[in-house]
Amino acid sequence: MGRACLALLWLLLPLAAAAERGPALPDYPVERVADSVYVIHGPLELPNPGNQGFMNNPGFVITSRGVVVIDPGSSVQTGEMVLRAVRRHTDRPVIAVFNTHIHGDHWLGNQAVREAWPQAVIHGHPNMLALIEAGEGRAWVERIERMSDGASRGTRVVAPDHAVRHGDSFRYGDHSFRIHHYGKAHTTSDIMVEVVEASTLFLGDNVLNRRIPRLDDADVQGNIEACTRILATGARVHVPGHGPTGGPEVTRRFRTYLQTLYDTVERLYDEGLGDFEMKPQVAAALKDYADWSGFDEQLGRHIGITWLQVEAAGF
Ligand SMILES: [Zn+2]
Repeated sequence: MGRACLALLWLLLPLAAAAERGPALPDYPVERVADSVYVIHGPLELPNPGNQGFMNNPGFVITSRGVVVIDPGSSVQTGEMVLRAVRRHTDRPVIAVFNTHIHGDHWLGNQAVREAWPQAVIHGHPNMLALIEAGEGRAWVERIERMSDGASRGTRVVAPDHAVRHGDSFRYGDHSFRIHHYGKAHTTSDIMVEVVEASTLFLGDNVLNRRIPRLDDADVQGNIEACTRILATGARVHVPGHGPTGGPEVTRRFRTYLQTLYDTVERLYDEGLGDFEMKPQVAAALKDYADWSGFDEQLGRHIGITWLQVEAAGF
C-alpha cells in the first residue's frame, strides 16, 4: 500500500468510527416543574429500538452561575438531547451533574456532558463509583446497546469524578443541592437530590410513578424507609426516576405499593405459601397498580425478591 493510500485510510478512519454511532434522539418535550427546574419525562417502557434506549427523567436546574444536570440518561445520544434542551433555555454553561444511582439508564449520558463541558463536576455515591470500577458501567453500556438494538452505539462509560454522601450540600450560584442517602434502598448506591430553594426532590428510582421498578438490587424495607425519610423534608415537588412529576402524593403512593407488596408477601409466607403460589393474592392486593408499565413482567420477580427478604428477616 502506497503512502497516499495510507493517508487516505487515516482520513477515513474517523468516518468509520462515526458510522458506528447510533442515530441522534429526537427532541423530547421539556416541562418546567418548579422555578428554574426542568424535567424531560422519558418514555415509560424499557429500553427498546423505538425509544433508542431512552427511558428516564433527566432534569436540569438553571442557577445564576450555570446549569446543574440530574441523570442525563441512558446513552451519549440521550445526553446530547438533554444538552440541546438546556441550550434552548439558557446559554449558561453546564457546571455540575448528579447521578442518582448505578443503573445505566440514568447516567450513561455523562459522556455527552463531559465532551461538551469538560470542567463540569460529576457527582455520585461512593458505592456507584466502586460498582463502575468493578465493571458494572460496561455491563450497562452493553445492556442498553442490546436492548435498543444498537441505537446507543458509541456510548462509553464516563463515571462520576466526585463522591458524595448523605448530608453533603453544594452551593451553585443561587441554588443549594442537598444529598440524601438512607442506606440500601433501590440499590446500595442511591442519592436523592434536594434542590432547596425550589423545594424540589430528584428521587432517582427510590420513587417511580406509573411504572414498576426493577427491584433486583433493592431492599424493600430500606426503600420504604427512604420514602418515609425523604417525605419528612416537606419538599413540594417530587420528581420520580420514571413517570410524571407531582407532589408528595407521588412518593406516598409508591411507598404504599412497596408496603402492600411486603405486608402481603409476609402474611402469605406466614401462612406457609411459596412465592409462586401467592401471585394471585398479591396481584389482587396491588390491583390499583395493575395498569402501571411493567406490572405484569415484574410482579413475579417482586414477589420472589420480597419473599427472600421476608424469610431473611425471620432469622
Ligand atoms: Zn434504577
